[in-house]
Amino acid sequence: MLIDLEIYSPIHQINNYLFHEKGIEVYLKRDDLIHSIISGNKWRKLKYLLQKASDENKTRLVTFGGAYSNHLLATAAAAAKFGFKSTGIVRGEEVNNDTLFLCRLHGMELIFVDRKSYRDKAALFDKYFGDDDNAFFIDEGGASIEGAKGCSELVNELTEDYNHIFCACGTGTTAAGIISGIRQNNSGIQFNGIPVFKNGDFIRDEIDRFLIENAVYQLHTGYHFGGYGKTDGRLIQFIKRFVAETGILIEPVYTGKMLYAIFDLAAKDYFKKGDRILAIHTGGIWGLLGMKDKFIDE
Ligand SMILES: *Cc1c(COP(=O)(O)O)cnc(C)c1O
Repeated sequence: MLIDLEIYSPIHQINNYLFHEKGIEVYLKRDDLIHSIISGNKWRKLKYLLQKASDENKTRLVTFGGAYSNHLLATAAAAAKFGFKSTGIVRGEEVNNDTLFLCRLHGMELIFVDRKSYRDKAALFDKYFGDDDNAFFIDEGGASIEGAKGCSELVNELTEDYNHIFCACGTGTTAAGIISGIRQNNSGIQFNGIPVFKNGDFIRDEIDRFLIENAVYQLHTGYHFGGYGKTDGRLIQFIKRFVAETGILIEPVYTGKMLYAIFDLAAKDYFKKGDRILAIHTGGIWGLLGMKDKFIDE
């Protein structure tokens, strides 16, 4: 079976007084529009993994994530769409929330495991699926060479020149893919990653793990807002204003932090006059459902 999904990811310009004043142009590549559930980079990361599973005649996808994982949900929906069964091994005690509700709705079986056992994914796969030849292992977040390859294709879709690409970094797989894509296309675009974790410099090792050759790129590590999933009043206000002014939905875990960084860097004159900046909207909008209480005005 050929695993394919038509890629609809248009590029929209973000108009704003600040960008106008600084003489820069900012565009948003709408990977969030690729699919309503398998959105953004998660589809790109899954594509070649699903192809491999299909080529190996596997019928069940087994993957890992926290209770709010966009990757779990994307895997559940992709499995349903392409005719696989799916199992999600979830970190922590049994809970129910909007993300897990949607996972189950797409037919995903959920197994909850304590945080300590969760660390060893290979052992967990072995424990539950060791004697099941139909099961296919997908690492947490889809982190893999195949995932990076899928993400590198984003660069082939660009028909105009840009000076910068910005993307949020979790596992760094998407960043590695885009960096490889930039190299393969021999374009001089500068890649800028926004780690969403505290002390985000470690992500450099993760990115380099998936790079075929060394590359120069920038990480802006000061936009984590306290760590993974953490927010503050500034970030929430920024997101409210951005959504209300553009009609484009973003969430605070990834794309919100990345876009905040672009506005902040622009205000601090990081960019040159005339620069064209492409930001990647990596999707994950359903995650907003688990963060509603952060948006309540004090
Ligand atoms: C998973 C995710 C990312 C991070 O991608 P990595 O390849 O893990 O770095 C970014 N944005 C969204 C919305 C995500 O769900």
